[in-house]
Amino acid sequence: MTEPIINDATSVEEEILFTSLRAQDWREFLGQETIKKALQIAIEAAKQRKEAMDHVLLYGPPGLGKTTLSHIIAKELGVNIRITSGTALTKTGDLAAILTNLEDGDVLFVDEIHRLSKAIEETLYPAMEDYALDIVIGKGPSARTVRIDLPKFTLVGATTRFGLLTGPFRDRFGLVQRLEFYSAEGLQKILANAAKKLQTKLPSKASEEIAKRSRGTPRIALKLFKRVRDYAQVENGGDITPATVERALKMFAIDELGLDHNDRKFLIEVINKHNGGPVGLSTIAATLHEDPGTIEEVIEPYLLQTGLIQRTNKGRVISKLAYQHLGLEPAKK
Ligand code: ADP
Repeated sequence: MTEPIINDATSVEEEILFTSLRAQDWREFLGQETIKKALQIAIEAAKQRKEAMDHVLLYGPPGLGKTTLSHIIAKELGVNIRITSGTALTKTGDLAAILTNLEDGDVLFVDEIHRLSKAIEETLYPAMEDYALDIVIGKGPSARTVRIDLPKFTLVGATTRFGLLTGPFRDRFGLVQRLEFYSAEGLQKILANAAKKLQTKLPSKASEEIAKRSRGTPRIALKLFKRVRDYAQVENGGDITPATVERALKMFAIDELGLDHNDRKFLIEVINKHNGGPVGLSTIAATLHEDPGTIEEVIEPYLLQTGLIQRTNKGRVISKLAYQHLGLEPAKK
């Protein structure tokens, strides 16, 4: 079996690091100003009315702050947060148990909400609309539905695949917000905060280098920072300089645009095997032995954002910029 081209697994140690570095409040959550404003208003309005806040759907590529935002929402509302995910919630009974155990105003965070089954999704409809659960008792002709009242809760859903949610489900969220990639300057601010928390000196030239290579993603910036810090500790007496960043990231095969092995493999395979496109997603997935969803969610957003590929109605096309970046001659068509 070919190894999957994406290894986005986060080690336990890294998870602990992310949790310890997690932005705790609005002051620490940097960027995404439009979303922040919309959420702050919704939170304030709910608090003033002493009601549960509208349900929120956050979407965008991984690592941009969806989970962090859900924690901040709960904290600002002064309520508890229950966390689950579309893959963990498989039985309607489990959903019923979670919902009935919530307290008024609580936040229920469902990560990867696009993975919920149809049955769970439909159980959620009355829960979201009327704070009620319709339970079917018995089978066949004698079956009847009993309605149970639920606490007035706020559902915060997060997804990397907005397109996979059905229209009726999307419509039940009062606030739908798309997270954007961060600018290099934005990531530098996040890195500066992390460095402070970790009591590590991170000169701005070095953080600029890390930020430039982080694909506009805080999670990647923090991950790279951790690797650079380890590298500097072992190779440079703990001193992080632009040169140590350069050397460390070279060792991890991350180039000046922040592309890693998987991104370059995508570009090179499409160039070599499909003459640079246009080629459809499923064909690319077969060529790379990778799941189309992963390619669409994890690899493509950044390649599109940087203009290295384009999406046309005939399929994906490698741009001139990508050929230049890879030092290759553009394909003759
Ligand atoms: P997602 O849920 O979208 O995959 P996370 O919320 O898990 O992303 O964020 C990954 C890491 O990046 C966390 O450690 C988080 O604190 C940090 N992070 C994300 N967005 C921001 C931000 N706007 N400001 C500060 N830190 C951020």
